[in-house]
Amino acid sequence: MKKIVVTGAGGFIAGHLVKELIKTGNKVRAVDIKPLNEWYQVFSEADNLVLDLRLMENCYQAVNGCNEVFNLAADMGGMGYIENNKAACMISVLINTHLLIASRDCGLDRYFYSSSACVYNAEKQTDPDNPGLKESDAYPALAEDGYGWEKLFSERMCRHFSEDFGLITRVARYHNVYGPYGTYDGGREKAPAAICRKVTSAAMTGEKEIVIWGDGHQTRSFTYIDDCVKGTIDIMYSDIDEPLNLGSSEIVSINQLVDIVEEIAGYTLERKCDLSAPKGVRGRNSDNTLIRQYLGWEPSTPLRDGIQRTFTWIGEQIRKDQSERTGINRFNK
Ligand code: NAD
Repeated sequence: MKKIVVTGAGGFIAGHLVKELIKTGNKVRAVDIKPLNEWYQVFSEADNLVLDLRLMENCYQAVNGCNEVFNLAADMGGMGYIENNKAACMISVLINTHLLIASRDCGLDRYFYSSSACVYNAEKQTDPDNPGLKESDAYPALAEDGYGWEKLFSERMCRHFSEDFGLITRVARYHNVYGPYGTYDGGREKAPAAICRKVTSAAMTGEKEIVIWGDGHQTRSFTYIDDCVKGTIDIMYSDIDEPLNLGSSEIVSINQLVDIVEEIAGYTLERKCDLSAPKGVRGRNSDNTLIRQYLGWEPSTPLRDGIQRTFTWIGEQIRKDQSERTGINRFNK
């Protein structure tokens, strides 16, 4: 039986991926830098390792005796994190570089890299009515400063390891993934989780106002975690060696996202726009022509359904946190 390494396994997407790979009968080695008690999901069936993958020797330890790697480890977060931690985000280049070298040297068969919509040229994202970013829109390069450049560089590193050393590499460009077991507080959370948390806590405390980053008219599309995991596995085992978008094409403004969360919560808030907060590009959407054409599939969970499930899960976590930490208010950070 083949053995698969999943890095970043203590985090959001890779935790779900480990679950799916185990469910479908694979032997999995799960690796993350965080202590095991901080992993979002832990599976006793996996071989769980705590390693800092920026270090070369740890990458050899991570891949040794395995056949394939899904590399999802990165120092990352939502806009609030990546705009204020550009150097830290770029240092993730060490993770991918050392993992590729270790995978080549240890003779692994296949390698997946989790790239991002942040590789796309900023000048193609100035209009909220973004028709969808095609894979070719990453060039000429003008990626998101810091995080996006690291992703673009690492994509190319994958490509050249294929060309020069014959390691099969696959790359997905994720577009805003959300769902249960994602980060929802602490500063690394993304818009869907942050809005679910703010609306839930306001409904619980009776607060009347919600702070929106930017003017709320900026647009995005959001990919539900189950679609992301399916697409990740499909791309990994496809014969497509170019980066593919893995994102929903259901575009909404941040205001529309807040509308959906308020409607689910049955609680409406007054909106206060913080125009000085990090807001990212003006309009971003995924063009899914290639993934449809190559894999006959694209992400399809309706945003409202995915948000409903995410909202329910975040509400449960907040209530659990509240009862465990009586007297400490973690809301509206
Ligand atoms: P996450 O932060 O939940 O998971 C990333 C994990 O990597 C964390 O658990 C972290 O501890 C681990 N990590 C960081 N540095 C490490 C190191 N030096 N050694 C070992 N582990 C390390 O993020 P996520 O949302 O699950 O994202 C997974 C991947 O997908 C990342 O590469 C991210 O850049 C990419 N991505 C995510 C999104 C999204 O919307 N979530 C969008 C585009 C791309």
